[in-house]
Amino acid sequence: MTTTLDAPPLGPMLDDIVRSHRPQREAGSVPAHIPSLAAVPFNRFGIAVATAAGEVFASGDADVPFSIQSISKVFTLAMALRRDSSGALWSRVLREPSGTAFNSLVQLEVEHGIPRNPFINAGALVVTDHLMEETPDAAAALLSFLSGQSGQAGPFFDVAAAASELSNSSRNLALAHFLKNFGNLRQSAEAVVENYVRQCSIMMTCVELAKAGLFLADDGRGALGTVVSRSEAKRIGSIMLTCGMYDAAGEFAYRVGLPGKSGVGGGILVIVPGHCAICVWSPRLDAKGNSLAGSAALADLSDRTGWSVF
Ligand code: GLU
Repeated sequence: MTTTLDAPPLGPMLDDIVRSHRPQREAGSVPAHIPSLAAVPFNRFGIAVATAAGEVFASGDADVPFSIQSISKVFTLAMALRRDSSGALWSRVLREPSGTAFNSLVQLEVEHGIPRNPFINAGALVVTDHLMEETPDAAAALLSFLSGQSGQAGPFFDVAAAASELSNSSRNLALAHFLKNFGNLRQSAEAVVENYVRQCSIMMTCVELAKAGLFLADDGRGALGTVVSRSEAKRIGSIMLTCGMYDAAGEFAYRVGLPGKSGVGGGILVIVPGHCAICVWSPRLDAKGNSLAGSAALADLSDRTGWSVF
């Protein structure tokens, strides 16, 4: 990768990205099973870049907290791999794109309770179960991990959002019961789903998320020391590239060419290996569940900078 961070200057470029991509009219959707997400104004748009050199560039609503939802799955995977020297987790979850919706039940039934990857809901429930064996409140451990990595006390649980999602969690409970039935869940289905929903409810800003994700771009080195080894960081990036954008990972790789992880709160965390972590947020989603304006902005940014793993 030949592009440098200062050519052209990143700050003005991000300002221009915000001007070009902040939604001007309402389009796209919000997830029906998390009512609180529908209340976020459609024209929110923020972007932040945290570099391995220690700089942070941000523009738009980059300091407004939003619901990280499935972006949490990247961090819980890193936390699980950190304590999984025997590789036991990988006998319980695969590393293949699913080609189905993030909360699909069909594939789990056909494939005997082994989720396709850790970034679909079934896979994240297995990761949560794995974490809960050593740390019963895995969501609290995640919150403290994120606060440590972002260097701020900023991240917090949206208790009301978690409660409202939990009361609409029939599908995640069904996935957990399937996993349990196939012997791939050790805690109760209810306990795992409750913990998982709280992980998803964490509120963070683009700046905080970019800083928290930087270890993935920096050979596993985080704000407080090594988070994962260099090869684990590379592997997590590979799973992001192939599985991080729901059933649109191929399209995102084509348009952006970088590993990313999306959440239905409208956030996308993207890694430029060796350079930086990027977080973009705009709440309205396309048909696959990815931020409409966020995906377009990242395609634009990668075109302007030349940042790509290809
Ligand atoms: N809490 C959401 C769910 O389980 C997360 C979905 C997502 O962001 O992909 O449905």
